[in-house]
Amino acid sequence: MRLAHRLDGIPPTVFTAMSALALRTGSVNLGQGFPDVDGPASVLAAAERALREGANQYAPGPGVPALRQAIARHQQRHYGLELDPDRQVVVTTGCTEAVAASLLALVDAGDEVVVLEPYYDSYVAMLQMCGGVRRPVTLRAPDFRLDVDELRAAVTPRTRFVLLNSPHNPTGTVLTRAELQAVADLAIEHDLVVITDEVYEHLTFSDDGTPHEHVPISTLPGMFERTLTLSSAGKSYSLTGWKVGWATGPPELVSAVLAAKQWMSFTSGAPLQPAIATALDEEPDWPRALARDLQARRDLLCDGLAKLGLDVRRPEGTYFAVTDISSLGWKDGMEFCLALPERAGVVAIPTQSFHDSDAGDQVVRWTFCKESSVLEEALARLAASDLSG
Ligand code: GLN
Repeated sequence: MRLAHRLDGIPPTVFTAMSALALRTGSVNLGQGFPDVDGPASVLAAAERALREGANQYAPGPGVPALRQAIARHQQRHYGLELDPDRQVVVTTGCTEAVAASLLALVDAGDEVVVLEPYYDSYVAMLQMCGGVRRPVTLRAPDFRLDVDELRAAVTPRTRFVLLNSPHNPTGTVLTRAELQAVADLAIEHDLVVITDEVYEHLTFSDDGTPHEHVPISTLPGMFERTLTLSSAGKSYSLTGWKVGWATGPPELVSAVLAAKQWMSFTSGAPLQPAIATALDEEPDWPRALARDLQARRDLLCDGLAKLGLDVRRPEGTYFAVTDISSLGWKDGMEFCLALPERAGVVAIPTQSFHDSDAGDQVVRWTFCKESSVLEEALARLAASDLSG
């Protein structure tokens, strides 16, 4: 079957392909980012209760009021943002739908969108489906910081949007206030709308006593009115399969998301929404505790990978670490990742498919959202294997 041109050259998502490879080969899966321990029991119980109590028909299109109110309180509690839950919050089927609906609603064919590279794969697929033109700005090894000159150079008279992601998957960079200010200055100067994916907002770490704190770009002066902020409960509450996400921002941008979303999923999972409201209101500290716990697992994985001779970037946030594999004699991350199950019984994610440039050819991503025993098993397998290229 010939696919429509809007899907030309878009392969199946690498995450699914690598998880299937892990299953097929019995490998430890440090590829796709999903935790092996579920989120809070109270939240699971709330979903169960909602199912039993009859929350089983269509939820309202913008999301159940209790969840929209809880999202507004979340933005207030963490960032001091005051949102009207009726006009400034919409619930989506995961952040992936929020990204899709935002781009479908706002990007016209030929519009240019500045996007951080390496990019999350759904951004590229959705931009292509909209006919949008991506203008990548590369976060480069070894420190994966935003190059403000490169950012400025990416903007042309046809640029209308910046698609941001911080904390950044896959590099683990948390954009600093200064970096965000550079994006904000540019957005204001060129009248751009910023669409920002902040799903790892609570999964940030501290190094040398300094927290790599997540700052939503919408909190910078002059930015709220031009920013669509996207997030979800999946990462914060270890419920990636629930697919409950949201978009917040000024009413015009939020209603644009709803205008597209209504024709996509129509409404999102009814019994899960009150349960996520419970999570946000009654388990507000759960994500920070998860982040503290993840930091120990980050260090376990990063120290282990470094011992194997890999150049490791210790991430500031997310649950991924990237390594440069050239020190082991490899030129191509995909070849390395395809050889890894057979050589070592471990799966990781090559990042070159998240680039237009060749900056990711030797960069491989590993997740540490697995239990310590799983990480130890993976490291033991790697240590017992010939990893040379
Ligand atoms: N966000 C997850 C990751 O980066 C994967 C989600 C997906 O498979 N689409 O690993």
